[in-house]
Amino acid sequence: MNNQRGLYGKYIVRKREGKTDPNADYRVLRIDADPAAEAAWRYYGRCISYKNPELAQDIEDETATGAILKPGWKMPEPPSETCARCGNPINQPFAVHTGEGWYLCWECKDECGHGEYEMIDAWPFVENYATGRDLEAVGFRVV
Ligand SMILES: [Zn+2]
Repeated sequence: MNNQRGLYGKYIVRKREGKTDPNADYRVLRIDADPAAEAAWRYYGRCISYKNPELAQDIEDETATGAILKPGWKMPEPPSETCARCGNPINQPFAVHTGEGWYLCWECKDECGHGEYEMIDAWPFVENYATGRDLEAVGFRVV
């Protein structure tokens, strides 16, 4: 793609009702063709929720498929280890929210809770934020 020109006046903004403010600073994002633009749009929805919950909900509903998967992302190969307690392979991806963010790791097949977790480094999404539903959709058990 060679159409990366930086910031420039690609669009002319016009209001459906009323006049545009000639001193305003409008921006246009094409969210159907640019995953980063869609992520920015959803982030805006979260940021505006305190001020305009109805708009925030509309944005959430509009983008209900959740976080955007990184192009080409696949679940990494699990470690070739077995659980010291139950003897099952440690090959089940699971996600725990620590309060500061998601911790992605592998657990044994029986979820025995032994705690031999291997961390998964490959964050699946374009943006840093994801819901538990997003993580379940790509194969994680969410705790
Ligand atoms: Zn186990």
